[in-house]
Amino acid sequence: MTERLYYHDSFLYDFEAQIREMQDHPKPAIFLDRTAFYPTSGGQISDTGVISTDNEKLRVTEVAETEDGRVIHYLEAPGKALQPGTKIRGQIDRTRRRDHMQQHTGQHVLSAAFVKLFDLHTVSFHMGDDYSSIDLDATALTKEQVEEAERLANEIILENRPVEIRFVTRDEAATLGLRKIPGADRDELRIIDIRDFDLSACGGTHVNQTGQIGCILLRKAEKVRQGWRVEFVAGQRAVVTARRDYISLTETAALFSAHIYDVPVQARKSLDEIRGLRKQREQSLEELAEAQAAAILSGVQEENRRKLVVRTFADRDMNFLKLLAQKLTRIVPNVIALLGTTSPQPSLVFAQSVGQSADMGKLMKEALVKVGGRGGGSKDMAQGGVPDAQSISAALESAASQING
Ligand SMILES: [Zn+2]
Repeated sequence: MTERLYYHDSFLYDFEAQIREMQDHPKPAIFLDRTAFYPTSGGQISDTGVISTDNEKLRVTEVAETEDGRVIHYLEAPGKALQPGTKIRGQIDRTRRRDHMQQHTGQHVLSAAFVKLFDLHTVSFHMGDDYSSIDLDATALTKEQVEEAERLANEIILENRPVEIRFVTRDEAATLGLRKIPGADRDELRIIDIRDFDLSACGGTHVNQTGQIGCILLRKAEKVRQGWRVEFVAGQRAVVTARRDYISLTETAALFSAHIYDVPVQARKSLDEIRGLRKQREQSLEELAEAQAAAILSGVQEENRRKLVVRTFADRDMNFLKLLAQKLTRIVPNVIALLGTTSPQPSLVFAQSVGQSADMGKLMKEALVKVGGRGGGSKDMAQGGVPDAQSISAALESAASQING
């Protein structure tokens, strides 16, 4: 077992120890007789830092727990002159440790707030690099509950209550009314005591006073399989997150020339406008297609008891081509329309009035084979995409000659 110095003092960033054992595979790592490095466990991610000897400095990239209760320190590179018994000095990355203490103690306060206010218990805790989250054993969670828990948690932070570490026996713990008792059958439990607010058994690193958490900001709350997940950030992370929110909100507000608090109203207004314009545009295109179809048909002579329309357009999309083909083949009962557009996407649409004898799907396939496009369709309507705008007119000509042939 490695002696864990952080059990007694979370603010111990600098310590001395001796190497017990080294390991090369799968990654270089060392075991110490004692350590202040916190290993990933209980939802909290590990410390990082530096281990130095008289001769070298080694970066600790990750710290974990082994099954037999030892702490393993993974190194960025193997040491050159490490041996069992070598004296080392360990230095924890302070900023990272402080951040973890803020998130973790913040979690205790928040979990207790949900219990005190709504009797909602935390079933799991996750600490990430960006944000942390707790899963509440809840079937429903309202926006108001989230805000109220956030308010109480920050109240407790402002009151700067002491956060103490106590070691008690399992029997003693049973009488204390802990919010959380670990399942493992250890005789001695480490209790984190937030004065007159929360008692829970925990092996993590915590601040000494709730004021050191700084503040806590609740973010997304979402339904998950086992209840409700509440994301939060504490301390500097809360400030960084609020700053990032503010920047993106400010940028959005500038687009609307509005105050940030008016952004939702402005955004809704714009979306309504867009919806209205889209509808208007559809109507206009419908009318345009109708008029264009009538104009085209009046200029085409009937041959062999049908009207063959062959046209190439620019700046018309496939949807408009289809609309136009529909109009052309419905206004007059004996039309075959072979339409192409060169941009934005070179495309072809072939259509015929219902009851005509040609096969548009087959005609399209044959035309596309020649120009390397893809598409198909039914007997009366077919469409295809063509890789090269230059080949549109050739494809139309060859299809037209097939119809006439
Ligand atoms: Zn804890």
